[in-house]
Amino acid sequence: MKTTSIMPVLFIGHGNPMNAIENNEFSQKWAEIAAKIPRPKSILCISAHWETWGTLVTGAKRPETIHDFGGFPDALYRVSYPAPGDKDLAQDLVKNMKSSKVTLCTDRGLDHGCWSVLKRMYPAADIPVVQLSLDQAKKGKEHFETAKELAYLREHDVLIIGSGNMVHNLYLVDFSRDDFNAEYGFDWAVKANETMKTLIVKQDYGNLCDYGSLGEAVKLAVPTPEHYFPMLYTLALRRDGDGIIFFNDKAVAGSLTMTSFLLG
Ligand code: ZN
Repeated sequence: MKTTSIMPVLFIGHGNPMNAIENNEFSQKWAEIAAKIPRPKSILCISAHWETWGTLVTGAKRPETIHDFGGFPDALYRVSYPAPGDKDLAQDLVKNMKSSKVTLCTDRGLDHGCWSVLKRMYPAADIPVVQLSLDQAKKGKEHFETAKELAYLREHDVLIIGSGNMVHNLYLVDFSRDDFNAEYGFDWAVKANETMKTLIVKQDYGNLCDYGSLGEAVKLAVPTPEHYFPMLYTLALRRDGDGIIFFNDKAVAGSLTMTSFLLG
């Protein structure tokens, strides 16, 4: 692998799958960020929508586009994101990651946590994409430690994207508004989002990994951890001297936040 500059790392709050085909303030920002950062050689995505027992990595030559949702307009099911895979990168992870046994999965495609964002960032789908799964057996701290092992990829032109949502409670979503993406957050959602941002800025990763002890608002924000854990992957890759830029920092539908950040 050729070394040039250090790639930034992203956490993207992906929200509604429709963001893949809707030109809105969130998806526009994704495209803007892609245009600003160096063009990666490959992309490694850790998505909320791939939970497994054990750690898997996609190894297909051309991973299919998985439409892993229900009840959306036909147009969304017609979207494909035909980016190539990157078997060398996948095999590299199998070889280099020591804290987990990583298994190559050649028949798994890309889920919407990954492609809905990349469709806007790199619509040509001409950059190879690999996904790493979330091992359901791991707790926050263990995910954080696993993520540290990916750090070397930043020196090899690989863009690492954690894709989830910091505040994500689908049980409490308010569907009553016409515009799902209009800014609207319950008090606890806004509070939890602020608590998380404060800890991120303070680099207080101990408390962020131990999110269950952060009080009632965060408990409501993280009823299940799969949308939260991708953020820990991004944070674990922060290097000394990295700046942080928050973007799309808004609550929608009451119980979700789109808050995202770039480290670099
Ligand atoms: Zn999601």
